[in-house]
This record gives sequence, C-alpha cells and structure tokens, in this order.
Amino acid sequence: MVKHKIPITREKFLQLTLPARLQLWAENRELEDYILTKAFTYKVTAAKLPIAHEKIKVAIIGSGPAGLGCANVLNQLGFKVTVFERDDRPGGLLMYGVPNIKLPKEILLAKVRGLEEAGVEFRLNAEVGTNTSWEEIKKHYAAIVICTGIAEPRSLELPGNKLAGIYYAKDFLISTTRSLLDNQLNAGTFISAEGKDVLIIGGGDTGTDCAALALAHEAHSILQVERQDCNMARISEEGFCKLVKGDVSLQYNTKVKSLLGDDKGNVSGVELCRLEWGQSKSGMPVAKEIEGTTQVLPIQLVLVSVGFTGPEAIVFEKFGVKRTPMGTIATLGGLFLAAEPCIFAAGDARRGSGMVEWAFEEGYDAALECAKYFTDNIK
Ligand SMILES: Cc1cc2nc3c(=O)[nH]c(=O)nc-3n(C[C@H](O)[C@H](O)[C@H](O)COP(=O)(O)OP(=O)(O)OC[C@H]3O[C@@H](n4cnc5c(N)ncnc54)[C@H](O)[C@@H]3O)c2cc1C
Repeated sequence: MVKHKIPITREKFLQLTLPARLQLWAENRELEDYILTKAFTYKVTAAKLPIAHEKIKVAIIGSGPAGLGCANVLNQLGFKVTVFERDDRPGGLLMYGVPNIKLPKEILLAKVRGLEEAGVEFRLNAEVGTNTSWEEIKKHYAAIVICTGIAEPRSLELPGNKLAGIYYAKDFLISTTRSLLDNQLNAGTFISAEGKDVLIIGGGDTGTDCAALALAHEAHSILQVERQDCNMARISEEGFCKLVKGDVSLQYNTKVKSLLGDDKGNVSGVELCRLEWGQSKSGMPVAKEIEGTTQVLPIQLVLVSVGFTGPEAIVFEKFGVKRTPMGTIATLGGLFLAAEPCIFAAGDARRGSGMVEWAFEEGYDAALECAKYFTDNIK
C-alpha cells in the first residue's frame, strides 16, 4: 500500500490557506491508495468470460464507482459504452462527496481520462429522465445499466428541523469541493463553517468527513453526536481523521431533542440529552433518555449525516424498475437484471448505501452479467 508521509501538526495545518488545507496529502489515505492501485486494474480474462458481440451499444447511467467499474469491464469486452452523467464532472460521490483532503480529484480525473482513451464515451450534464430522454436511450442502446447511487438523504424528524443553517452533510461536503474546483473557494459559493459552533448529527464516516472539513474551515467548535453506543457505531480510523482528533468532541449515546432558533429563523442552539441502551423483550436494543441530562448548547451550523433512504423517485417513475422494501432497485433474476429487456442496476442504487470498493465490484459484476445476457440470448 502507498503511504504518504506528511507529518503535520494541527498548528501547521491551520497556518495553511483553506485551499492548501484541502490539497493536503494526509497520511495513509486508504481510498486514494485504492483508486490509484486497485480500482481500475480489473482485467477481463477470456478464459472465464463470454466474448461479447462487437460494438453492441450499452448506456450506463451514472459515473460513480459502480458506473466507472462497469464501463471499464464492458469496454474491455468489446461493447461500445456511453456513460451518461448529470453532473458537470464525472465520478459521482468520488468527485464531489468525498472531500479533496481525502481523495485529490486530479487522481480521479486521470483515471477517467484513461477510460476515455480506451474508448468509453462520457456525456456530462446529461440527466436521464429530464434533459436526456430515457426513451431515446432505450431506442438507441441494446442494454442499460443504472448506476445512479442513492441521493435521497434521510430527513431529520425533530422540532426545529426547518430552521436556516441546517444542511445535509452531503451538501456541505459537495459545496466545498465544487467551489474548490470551480473557483479555488474564492466566489463565496460554499457553505462555510468558519467561526461557527458546528453540530454534526451522525457518527459515521460521512460525519467524520464533515468534522475534518469544518476544522479546515476554522469552525469555532465542532460537536459530533451519535445516538448509538461507541461499540455499535462505525467510526473511521483513516489517517486524516487523526488531524481532527482533539478538535472534535464526539459524544456517543446522545440524542438531539430539538433545534432552537433565533428571531430571524436561524438555528442558534441545540437541546441534547444522554441515552442509556437496554433490550426490549424481543432482544432488540432500545434507548432510554437518562433523566436530568438535558443540556442546551449554542450552535450556528447543523450538518445532518443520518444516512440515505434510496435512489431518487425519478428512477422508479421513469426507468421501469421496481423498488425493494429497503427502497433500492429490485432485481428480477440473477443479481443485477432489473427489468426486461436488458436493464441492469448496480452500486448503491441496487445494494443500498455502501463503500466505494463495493460499488466498483458491483460495476464489474453487473458488466459480466450484462455480457452473459447477450451471449446467452443473442446468437
Ligand atoms: C458524503 C459521502 C462520503 C463518502 N465517503 C466514502 C469514503 O470515504 N470511502 C468509501 O469507501 N465510501 C464512501 N462513501 C460511500 C461511497 O461514496 C458510495 O458507496 C459509492 O460512491 C456508491 O457508488 P455508486 O456508483 O453506486 O453511486 P454514486 O457514487 O452516488 O454515483 C451515482 C452517479 O449517478 C449520477 N446520476 C444519478 N441520477 C442520474 C440520472 N438520472 N442521470 C444521469 N446521472 C445520474 C449522479 O450524479 C452520480 O454521479 C461516501 C458516501 C457519501 C455520501
């Protein structure tokens, strides 16, 4: 594994400008190592694969890791692959969701250029179902692989959730990366944590990414809260997280009871309490509020990182696929076939919220199933 040795103290980190902080090469960035060394090295081996018919056209919707993995394999198998992406840059969450401090975007763009040179076509700013017709794609492509991810965040159901200053974690992360790439953070177009008391709701990896970014923005204070016990919650130990240790107060077993607002409708505080976990009669974990632990803290920015519900409604309304009880795209037979004829689904859209590595693997496997569909059904 490639290791990047940049010993940096909190003081040195904060002496850098914000763009420089976001360019920083932290220590031991596992995701970057994976993109550099493994994600695009999948090689089709003729021995175990059906040989696809020359130049059958396949459309892939979404250029996240599932779409990129799928495009790579189908292209190697001899299909003519076009990736439709609604964003202005390729990569899905790799481009805008994962902060630059964790995955520098030039690495990703170089990999995408490699796919283009190998023959994959990328159509950006092409949202299938709105400015790009699903019916036209169905008419012109022999197969479609839906790799649209799960963009519908789970909402926060508690008093005060409509106040100004409350954002989904993803929107906070995306706004900084987009502004960094578009204008080096000069146009005032990103959600800033500078000088603010920041509350992050959710103790998972995305919440930790928000904490690192809020530190880079020079937040006044950062509090990350998680309902679960620390043994239940999954907290990242990636190198760059070490940067924020000591700067973030991470509280487990903590419930947000309500968000409080000022007279202008801006969030100004949070009411929290501590939880105690026990078991229901059926053995399920249940949380009980510990009496006398309610406290009110000042907060001016809230970042909500409590997961996602599933792919957006448009996927089910327009693409002729069905929804599982979990909210993801249901499959018919095999693992990836979602609708007849030749419509497949892969990545988070099919398996639910996951990891980059899993999404790449979904993409490879969906490509193989798609190729097999042709060799089995078209003689
Ligand atoms: C903020 C955040 C940070 C994360 N950080 C990490 C991490 O550090 N490490 C890790 O392993 N995992 C991380 N994950 C999880 C990981 O990013 C996802 O599991 C993975 O990106 C899913 O890949 P995907 O290709 O299925 O979907 P996505 O990456 O979501 O890509 C879907 C793509 O489809 C496009 N799209 C959607 N609808 C349409 C349409 N109608 N027409 C055209 N295009 C469309 C979207 O614009 C997007 O580009 C993170 C997730 C989030 C939300």
